[in-house]
Amino acid sequence: MKPIATLFFAFLALYCGHSQAAPPNILLIFVDDVGWGDAGCYGATLVKTPNIDRLAREGQRFTQGHASAAVCTPTRYSLITGQYSWRNQAEGLNKGVAKGDAPLLIPTTMTTAPGLLKQAGYRTALIGKWHLGFGESKPDFNGELRPGPLEVGFDEYFGIPATNDRLPTVFVRDHRVVGLDPADPIRYSYDATEAKAQGMSPWAAGRNRIGWAKGGKAAWWKDTEIADTLLRESVQFIERNQEKPFFLLYAPHNVHAPAIPGPRFAGSSGLTPRADMLQELDACIGELLQTLDRHGLAKDTLILYSSDNGAYVTDEKGHKPTGPYRGKKSQLWEGGHRVPFIVRWPARIQPGVSEDLVSTLDMPATICAAAGITLPNEALPDSHNLLPALLGEKNAPKRDHLILMSGNGDLAIRDHTLKYIPSLAAADGWYANKRKGTATQRPGLYDLSKDPGETQNLMPQRAADAKRLAELLAKDQAASVTRPAQ
Ligand code: CA
Repeated sequence: MKPIATLFFAFLALYCGHSQAAPPNILLIFVDDVGWGDAGCYGATLVKTPNIDRLAREGQRFTQGHASAAVCTPTRYSLITGQYSWRNQAEGLNKGVAKGDAPLLIPTTMTTAPGLLKQAGYRTALIGKWHLGFGESKPDFNGELRPGPLEVGFDEYFGIPATNDRLPTVFVRDHRVVGLDPADPIRYSYDATEAKAQGMSPWAAGRNRIGWAKGGKAAWWKDTEIADTLLRESVQFIERNQEKPFFLLYAPHNVHAPAIPGPRFAGSSGLTPRADMLQELDACIGELLQTLDRHGLAKDTLILYSSDNGAYVTDEKGHKPTGPYRGKKSQLWEGGHRVPFIVRWPARIQPGVSEDLVSTLDMPATICAAAGITLPNEALPDSHNLLPALLGEKNAPKRDHLILMSGNGDLAIRDHTLKYIPSLAAADGWYANKRKGTATQRPGLYDLSKDPGETQNLMPQRAADAKRLAELLAKDQAASVTRPAQ
């Protein structure tokens, strides 16, 4: 640890008056397209997830955890910035997801959770999926991919630039594509006409992907090796940083499409490749837990586990990735955004189950609080600190409502029991586009405590509740900060 960081933490421990103030390591496991029902601890019986179940048994499992949006890029933006993504008008944040040629979508001037942790002496790394763009106007895959994760608070980055179904299919380390042969540069396009004129193909590594590319073959990943590669990098990061507090955002591609598990897991579930990939994910998490155990780090490591949006399928040969909930990825129905949400910190947090309303948006303020950081004014503006509630403090502040966003950028709002959807025409997210003309513009109100499957619209009978929630939504939209003051 650097002397200045040692001094900082010594002061922090002295100031807080007890040894528990020593900053924990933080491992944020942020998975892709994993639904609420995708683990044994959330009721799954046909897929085996012993390691995720262990996390739940040894930590707090939340039944009302939500991704801040129903698709990848917006939720990941909020995870790093603590800001509702729809406050930022950039394409891919207030609707849709970042294209493969998107510039960096997080302003480098913005205060971020990894940036705050880095300033506080943490070694910070993102290993896995980024999907928040590179460069000032577009990525330069043959040169420097700058600005990117390293310009918004991460000391190290290794991973997938966008998604496993987008071109180019290469790993990036810090600012460079790994293993690129300069004699065979990567050319890519997201414009069909241009791509065809230049002889580019949507195929790479044996699969049809989003976008068109050619070249860079030496750098192409093998889909079957992605999980093991990201795991190996993560284990190495932890082992390199045992002597100082670290923040690792481990963001595996599991279980985003195309579902291609590694050879050890192909066929392991007896269900589908996606279910196999889920068991692969669980095994990777098990390896990380064992790494912490092996080095005596588990007790003082805060682990958070969640997903960037709900599952994209609702039934896999009897397995129900979205549990009892309606809808799927991109939708305003619970299946689109209600996700697994587990927090384990053996030294400080008692195991249990919580019904508190929580969001992935709350993770940045929570991890900063665990690190002893007081947030600067207006930093992480929509992120609620869950730590007091996690520590079991009496009268701990709790989130009483939450705004949700579909894949099309439409919003809904829910409190502990009720959800208000301003226009049911928007509730199906990406799938709503296919039903234009027949969908209804009327609002929906659902009581999730009595009707978890969102089958009974309580409008117009409970118009007063709808009006209250609509006003709360408008108020938060007009505000720039919605978190409690510190
Ligand atoms: Ca996702």
